[in-house]
Amino acid sequence: MLKTTIQGLLTAVKGLTLTIKHLFAARTARRSKDIKDPNYFERQDGVTTVQFPKEKMSIPEVARYQLDVEIDDCIVCDLCAKACPVDCITIESIKATEAIGKTSDGSVKRLYAAQFDIDMAKCMYCGLCTVVCPTECITMTNQYDKSTSKLTDLIYGFAEMSEQEIVDRKAEWTKFQAEKEAAKTK
Ligand code: SF4
Ligand code: SF4
Repeated sequence: MLKTTIQGLLTAVKGLTLTIKHLFAARTARRSKDIKDPNYFERQDGVTTVQFPKEKMSIPEVARYQLDVEIDDCIVCDLCAKACPVDCITIESIKATEAIGKTSDGSVKRLYAAQFDIDMAKCMYCGLCTVVCPTECITMTNQYDKSTSKLTDLIYGFAEMSEQEIVDRKAEWTKFQAEKEAAKTK
């Protein structure tokens, strides 16, 4: 009985010592270090979290976060969607009857982007889509604070065509095809 009581007291003292140690250490708060600091991963004592979003941890320049698409530079080749292992990129293209412009790297654009959606709720941030893009117009940005309570808010649309434009461009292509077929049968 005496032995058990002493053991209980010793355990309580041990536990309290640890609690008091952490309590005093908590006077030191973590400081957000620059990612280039050689001691970035050094163990820090005290409170090891930062007061997000007031304080933010420094992140690498090449970090993989929110995707962005510069749609004016997209040739709608669908390579990114094909490379995506989780099928979170949905692209719908419409063929143009002639070249419709050039991207900033000089690639000729022959397709309209009727739909270009990325579901960031499914994205696993592998970066494959950015690697295969021939015009480098799909990139991973340093934006990571995109939390929302609605999953559908995480579907980002990058296409800029209006409903009417989509209808008109589709009609143009259908007419063009029909005229081509008619010319063949003449
Ligand atoms: S980063 Fe990976 S998972 Fe996300 S859209 Fe690109 S290919 Fe798909
Ligand atoms: S790979 Fe690049 S150019 Fe091709 S559809 Fe995707 S974003 Fe556009």
